[in-house]
Amino acid sequence: MSKGNRYAFFGGEIVPIADARISIMTSALHYGTAVFEGIRGYWCEPERRMSVFALDEHLQRLLVNSRFMHMDLPYERGTLRSAVLELLGRERFETDCYIRPLAYKSSCEVGVRLHNLDCDCCIFAVPFGRYIDKPGGIRAMTSSWRRVEDNAIPARAKISGAYANSALAKSEAVRSGCDEAIVLAENGHVSEASAANLFLVRDGVLITPPITDNILEGIVRAFVLRLAHDEGLVATERSVDRSELYAADEIFLTGTGIELTAVIELDGRRIGTGHEGPVFERLAQRFGDAVRGRAQRYADLCTAVIYSS
Ligand code: PMP
Repeated sequence: MSKGNRYAFFGGEIVPIADARISIMTSALHYGTAVFEGIRGYWCEPERRMSVFALDEHLQRLLVNSRFMHMDLPYERGTLRSAVLELLGRERFETDCYIRPLAYKSSCEVGVRLHNLDCDCCIFAVPFGRYIDKPGGIRAMTSSWRRVEDNAIPARAKISGAYANSALAKSEAVRSGCDEAIVLAENGHVSEASAANLFLVRDGVLITPPITDNILEGIVRAFVLRLAHDEGLVATERSVDRSELYAADEIFLTGTGIELTAVIELDGRRIGTGHEGPVFERLAQRFGDAVRGRAQRYADLCTAVIYSS
């Protein structure tokens, strides 16, 4: 999946990917003291144009999250925005791609802390297809791991160190024969999947756990709530117990990587009909139209990349 990219934004400029190197002594590598983003670029046929979805929202979250980690980044949002667009302009992918900005504690010093350390931000992009390639829906299990608590590592932010929690949950699920993990908060409420937010549908009502149940404040989650509103669907943010998932008519996951993906089986139990449900199908269709620039109403979320000849 990482084949095919040639450049990176590193040290404030676009350089060949082979020149974007850091020392093994880099603080963030040892302590997970970094924040990152995952952004999707969509290759839109027939216009033959790359379009980045929710670029400003992602960069805004990166900058907010960097403050959690006492980072005073040497770049403004506008600089990072230009860097993403220039990077993609140089890569000239003709396929969907994934853009990964990483802001990290760059000093080469031993000692666990956030203060008195330099920070930097690098960005690379890779061609990227489906995150879980299972047309028709995925099988999930409730993880034996619990989601990081806000008072341990703030789950609302994309803090690199917290992804050890996600990785434990994901690999447990895959090694158990499932595709994805559903992770509960310490209080037993459903939080989210390993790297995606969760929605369920009961009697036509869309339900998603609130941001106080240790979820990442997902950009696609917020967009799906907007789509639901625009579609005239009733949507509510409230806590969900594990067993309520078994009673759901539909469950689906949302995220930049996973996009909208239906969960058709959970803990060996069929969800709803065991197929992608009508609410999912409707929202997934609208989502696809929006991210590929086919919906004028959401055009403000799509940034076109110029491939100069
Ligand atoms: N939760 C976690 C833990 C994630 O890593 C992600 C992916 N960024 C999401 C939810 C979905 O967030 P977004 O919609 O902003 O991609």
